[in-house]
Amino acid sequence: MTDTQNPLTLYNSLTRAKEPFVPQDPKRVTMYNCGPTVYSYAHIGNARAAVVADVLFRVLRHIYGEDHVVYARNITDVDDRIIQSAKETGKPISEITEKYARIYNEDLAALNCLPPTVQPHATKHIEDMVVMISELMEKGHAYASDGHVFFDVSTYDAYGKLSGNTLDALRGGDRVGEGEVARKKNAADFVLWKPELDGVGWDAPFGRGRPGWHIECSAMAKATLGDVIDIHCGGVDLKFPHHENEIAQSCCANEEQVFANYWVHNEFLNMARPDGQSEKMSKSLGNVTLVHDLLKEWDGEVIRLALLKAHYRSELNWSEDLLKESKENLASAYRYKARAMELQKLTTDVLFGFDIALYNDLGVLEAIRDIIFSSGEVFQVTNKIAHGEDISWGEARIVEQYLNSYNLLGLLQKDPEDWFKGGASGDEAAEFDAIALRRQEARAAKDWAAADVARDEATAKGIVLEDGPDGTTWRKA
Ligand SMILES: [Zn+2]
Repeated sequence: MTDTQNPLTLYNSLTRAKEPFVPQDPKRVTMYNCGPTVYSYAHIGNARAAVVADVLFRVLRHIYGEDHVVYARNITDVDDRIIQSAKETGKPISEITEKYARIYNEDLAALNCLPPTVQPHATKHIEDMVVMISELMEKGHAYASDGHVFFDVSTYDAYGKLSGNTLDALRGGDRVGEGEVARKKNAADFVLWKPELDGVGWDAPFGRGRPGWHIECSAMAKATLGDVIDIHCGGVDLKFPHHENEIAQSCCANEEQVFANYWVHNEFLNMARPDGQSEKMSKSLGNVTLVHDLLKEWDGEVIRLALLKAHYRSELNWSEDLLKESKENLASAYRYKARAMELQKLTTDVLFGFDIALYNDLGVLEAIRDIIFSSGEVFQVTNKIAHGEDISWGEARIVEQYLNSYNLLGLLQKDPEDWFKGGASGDEAAEFDAIALRRQEARAAKDWAAADVARDEATAKGIVLEDGPDGTTWRKA
């Protein structure tokens, strides 16, 4: 697939416009998706983001080739909630993170999500984060304060470009505690490094501690994909502050104008209420639906189709009815697949004879005879076409294979119209058209004598007239 044939357009959240997708390198198309924080099960809203990204991944693989797309989806395995969970359960952190990372991957596999090309773990990239934070400090974009390191948003003019946030929205938008406000230069500054918590920490030039959430993605994206990536996707809930902060960190540390050329955000998933209205999924409303639980009752493909039942940029209202409807849709599609597979087998069987003959010391004549004359199926289909009858999708497959077979023989390579007009010149063709038209008009007027005259005239010129439902046409005799 060359760039000029590029068929894909994507809505870019950064420019707020649908744009043709042009990768930096068609041999290595890169996409990043923010993965889970592994301290509990994924909910259906997380699954929507993963399924949307999976469809995009599959489409890119289809266009650019399976080996030319690198998809990174991280595992956040260091986080305050993980540390909290370890404290509460008395289990080692690694036991918790490994368990939920495994379940996340299993649940998504059940939804037919392909594994990402790379799945970096935050704890394996601490050094990359430390390097990036050091660079930001050296370049004047970050400062240390009371055991923390913060990003100084006032040093990055483009801050807020993705989310279009006002300063009001920026206040208190970060995942840091209230107590940190006093340590910051600007209210919107966000944390890059925090002091050690409950013994969880790594040594760094700016003090022993642990990374903030945003720097993890910037460092892992750089380590696995490069300084500038083609596509960054994720749920719209991550646009601010997370993605906005990723852009600020990466652009300032890497000294690049952009972090990702295309930002693809999927909309929210809402939960249906018994009264027919819908509401956001939240713990306080008690309507959080886990993929893990749904899979006990529904096939993963049913859940996947239900998740795709609204365009990814529209909100999706999740309900039991949506699942039931998806299950019925799939039942019809599977019945159709069963029939399609029968037709596919028929096509394969028919052409098997063709290949056998041709591969047997180039038995061209036998090959033609086998597919056209000996095969009832091919004859039936070509006969239908000759009589202007409609053919089914399955029969169309036979036609496609039939034409491919002729390509292998180097026959039927011309346009049919050129073939029948036999290379007539423009003047000649105009003259023949006129004869055909006279015949057509005579027949329409039931002037049989005039119609015969036109036919005789045609014979004298070496052409044959053919009367059809759409009028009279001519071909070289
Ligand atoms: Zn992220």
